[in-house]
Amino acid sequence: MDVEILTIGDELLLGQTIDTNSAYIAQKISEIGLLPKYKSSVGDTVEDIETAIKLATKRAGLVIATGGLGPTDDDNTKKAIVKVFKRRFVLDDKLLEDIRDRYKKRGIEMPAINENQALLPSDSHVFKNKLGSAVGIGIIEPHSIFIALPGVPTEMKHLIDEEIIPYLLSKKLGRPVRIVTIKTSGIFESQVAELIAPDLKLETGVKLAYLPGFSGVDLRVVAVSDDQIDADEKTQEVVNYIHGKIAKYIYGQDTDTLPSVIGQLLKKNKQTLAVAESCTGGQLGEFITTVSGSSEYFLGGIIAYANEVKSSQLGVSDETLEKYGAVSEQCAIEMANGCRNRLNCDYALSITGIAGPDGGTLEKPVGTTYIGLSSKRHSFARQFNLGAEREMVRSRACFNALDMLRREILNIK
Ligand code: AMP
Ligand code: MG
Repeated sequence: MDVEILTIGDELLLGQTIDTNSAYIAQKISEIGLLPKYKSSVGDTVEDIETAIKLATKRAGLVIATGGLGPTDDDNTKKAIVKVFKRRFVLDDKLLEDIRDRYKKRGIEMPAINENQALLPSDSHVFKNKLGSAVGIGIIEPHSIFIALPGVPTEMKHLIDEEIIPYLLSKKLGRPVRIVTIKTSGIFESQVAELIAPDLKLETGVKLAYLPGFSGVDLRVVAVSDDQIDADEKTQEVVNYIHGKIAKYIYGQDTDTLPSVIGQLLKKNKQTLAVAESCTGGQLGEFITTVSGSSEYFLGGIIAYANEVKSSQLGVSDETLEKYGAVSEQCAIEMANGCRNRLNCDYALSITGIAGPDGGTLEKPVGTTYIGLSSKRHSFARQFNLGAEREMVRSRACFNALDMLRREILNIK
């Protein structure tokens, strides 16, 4: 059965609200083997919603829509449903009472316009909403299902988790599926493809996607089958193959992040980490501390943005700053060494670079970044060219620093 997610609301088309609902729904229904084929968005007029519903139900057997179920004049989804599916409006007395009660409990008299939230298309399936007064509406026909949910993300999530997924499972609509996301760092998308694509033969029902981001390239393997064990095995086969080709770039799987993986390694080895940051202004520390429990291994850091701070707090020599500049291999090494001595940790990472958009030169263009690492064993720095956009350079610098540490701890060349 083909699946479409339809999001409704002018705010989505205008870019005022980012459509997070469809991402959530897509993830949740994928987990039960319903992989969306189409996603669409439409504004708030009845005619446009009608057109969108007609198109969606024509090309997909299951359509899940969100938005436009509120009580105000700009909420038109129910009117469009009534027209497209040739229903009429009927008042659900029980629902009206529930909505009144909801207001009473909050000590408010129900505004009259909320009465229309108890007006539902005839012959529809009601999905109860514990968090709000707009219920989910299902138009269930022999070979197709249309579901409309409220747009408010907390209510939509509640309905998907508690009502829609159990309903779809009860109808045996999903197919056994297995999804694994392999997380890589330190390698480009095209390099990954060059290493794994030539000898890779994907069986029917198996898909591989390359998903590049600032932290690296994620590789998502999906297998759909009539049998769960078969789906698991087919996915695992591809996962094993990829590991065989690019093991040293793989830092984890699924919910692993570079900061969480670094955390596990440091905890296991009972080692500590500190950072010295210039162009990232604290972002590396921020990334590391996204992990709950990071105080076990992360001591802290020094944001040495100005050269005086690099010398006074990290002991970078005047000679280095004059001769090589703040963005240099020598400076990165001295920053890392200074940080490790000062904070007395097992590992120190340093970052110094040109994040842009200004400050680049012919010799050191925007994106030129040096990442240093200091440990008891040795200290060194590597040069990176991380792109031409400030946010990109800064984020990539942090992830590359974490990957350098991962490789150092695991002794990967
Ligand atoms: P509605 O159900 O259309 O009245 O939407 C209520 C609110 O939910 C809107 O004001 C948006 O802030 C939010 N919302 C609606 N659709 C989406 C969506 N697709 N993604 C994220 N937020 C949404
Ligand atoms: Mg709306």
